[in-house]
Amino acid sequence: MSSIADNLLKVKGNLPSDVCLVAVSKFHPLEAVLEAYAAGQRVFGESRPQELAAKQSAVAALHLSEPIRWHFIGHLQTNKLKLVLPYASMVESVDSVELLTAIERWAAAHPGSCRDKVNVLLEIHIATEQSKQGFTPEEASALLTGPALWPHIRFCGLMGMATFTDDKDVIRSDFQKLTSLFAALSPRRGECPNLTEDFREMSFGMSEDYPIAVEMGATMVRIGTAIFGTRSLTASVL
Ligand SMILES: *Cc1c(COP(=O)(O)O)cnc(C)c1O
Repeated sequence: MSSIADNLLKVKGNLPSDVCLVAVSKFHPLEAVLEAYAAGQRVFGESRPQELAAKQSAVAALHLSEPIRWHFIGHLQTNKLKLVLPYASMVESVDSVELLTAIERWAAAHPGSCRDKVNVLLEIHIATEQSKQGFTPEEASALLTGPALWPHIRFCGLMGMATFTDDKDVIRSDFQKLTSLFAALSPRRGECPNLTEDFREMSFGMSEDYPIAVEMGATMVRIGTAIFGTRSLTASVL
């Protein structure tokens, strides 16, 4: 079995240097995070609030020379914000106006507990599966070009997950929905209060499909299995 450091090197070798690699460490133990950190990785993705809070607290106690940046990538319930917003440098998975409103309220009410503005990506429903979360391109577009309702939120871009399939054409056409929306919105940066120069990221691509994602212009990929191996859904992570 190859080591996390070897896997990381291999994945990095397939990525242009300007693509941000989010190492998805969900369901993997803290030791796995630290192994990747020792190999140079600084950005990690977690999808469960409790796990993020526990890992970041364990890591904080180690006083690492360079901080880890945690990205939250899972479905976030509005009653779990306190476990995520103080620690996440980005919430990639904002999938509803209700969640956005809750984040805005929480950030306004806890000025010392999180950054001045919460960095978010809007999750776009690009898969053909009904079960996946997210805004439609039309909803996201209306929100981003709409009124300034979110003074504590920085809209940094879009995020999406393709249909779970081996069919590369389906994956491409899913990703295309995200890149088209981004291309339509980008020229309007600076024209709308929610669409500023900060709107730069397209986060798509996972272990199985990231080569396609890179080819299609992803600025950020979220990769777990190809770095850390298969997830054990039962093991304790700390
Ligand atoms: C788990 C997860 C990933 C990583 O998936 P892998 O197939 O293990 O690379 C990426 N994005 C999201 C939103 C996830 O939940």
